[in-house]
Amino acid sequence: MRTYKVSFAHRASLLDAADLAAVAELINSNDPLSGGRRREAFEAAFSAYTGTRHALSVTSGTVALEIAIRLLGLEPGDEVIVTPQTYHATIQALLEQQVRVTFCDVDPSSLNLDPAALASLIGPRTRAVVLVHYGGLPADMDRITALARAHGAVVIEDCAHALGASYRGRMPGSLGDIGCFSFFATKNITTLGQGGMLTFHRDDWADRVRQVRDNGVDGRFVPLGMVEEPVPATLPWMKFHGGAYQRACVDVIRTGTNANMPEAAAGVGLSQLAKLGHLIDRRRQIASRLDSVVDRFSAVRPHRAPPDAEHAHHLYTFFTDAGSDARDHLVRELDSRGVEVQLRYFPLHLRPEWRRHGHGPGECPVAEDSWFSRHVNLPCHPGLSDDQVEFLVQALAESLTAVLTGVRRAAIDDTVRQGHG
Ligand SMILES: *Cc1c(COP(=O)(O)O)cnc(C)c1O
Repeated sequence: MRTYKVSFAHRASLLDAADLAAVAELINSNDPLSGGRRREAFEAAFSAYTGTRHALSVTSGTVALEIAIRLLGLEPGDEVIVTPQTYHATIQALLEQQVRVTFCDVDPSSLNLDPAALASLIGPRTRAVVLVHYGGLPADMDRITALARAHGAVVIEDCAHALGASYRGRMPGSLGDIGCFSFFATKNITTLGQGGMLTFHRDDWADRVRQVRDNGVDGRFVPLGMVEEPVPATLPWMKFHGGAYQRACVDVIRTGTNANMPEAAAGVGLSQLAKLGHLIDRRRQIASRLDSVVDRFSAVRPHRAPPDAEHAHHLYTFFTDAGSDARDHLVRELDSRGVEVQLRYFPLHLRPEWRRHGHGPGECPVAEDSWFSRHVNLPCHPGLSDDQVEFLVQALAESLTAVLTGVRRAAIDDTVRQGHG
């Protein structure tokens, strides 16, 4: 594997002595290793931060999204409208549901779900809208939630990039109906490599999530002695045994899973959350250095937050309007200088699992055009040293100069060839 001078996102969320102390404190205690006070404390701090009544931790962002989709209780014939410009885990749980999935195009300068496109798609069958705050830039949530409310649809926010962002003074995860966060190693904070969180206000959902994540069965329970034949769920001696066998499940409606966040992860999450401000400041500092390079060139545009929102810069994104050849050339120039570029994300409606469901090219022209011709993602994370940031800034300036000067020259050559020079 090639090593880069500036890698895209290796261990983007820094772990430090305070995180280590949180783990040591657990190991030196007699506390349980899961389901203990650290998880409770992390969830309480998280719900206070996002401003949601509930914050319930799970083992990954993917599982948070799966559980969120389960909470909807979708039925055959329901429609869910989704963004194509995100990581595939945002919507993959919908593959197992008998629902119609409609991809809604994105806005070309934010890459977030376009409210105007949503307005033309949403209808009486729409039960939910699933979106992401791309790269940590909040989507236009007031317009989106107004449309969803008017149609009785639930809004699920994939906040995997958006911890530390804000929108009109409010936090992602509190803007729609359900927020899903990831604490994977490269996210804005990490719970020792894996973890996730659901945020929402509804108490019935909280009961259900607590049940689902702890292998709880959603079923019909009856007191012992009332278990119907022909298969009694209890043995005779259990009647005298006390607490454990007082109820028997006679009908399983839905099973759960094990998605309990371990105490070590929760302890580190609490410690990381306390540093979130510093981690995001560093991301913003790097992004503003890169923006100032991008701003010097007229053929490229930054991915910038509007005045009423704050970008968390999970991803650093910019756009070139000089055509797909120029974009590809730019990526090669950056790569040859030792800067790792990873384009995020291939439009989901073009992936094989969604093509199999009848989706394909032309459904979301803006998302397709951006991926194939315009957008570039650069490394931008607190794991970068000052020297690496200087190197990155320099490499970007050189690459843009090389490519965009080349583009101008090619255009002039063309004019000359056509005899208009
Ligand atoms: C990382 C990520 C996820 C999945 O989170 P995991 O914790 O890795 O399972 C979902 N959606 C987006 C947009 C992500 O970036």
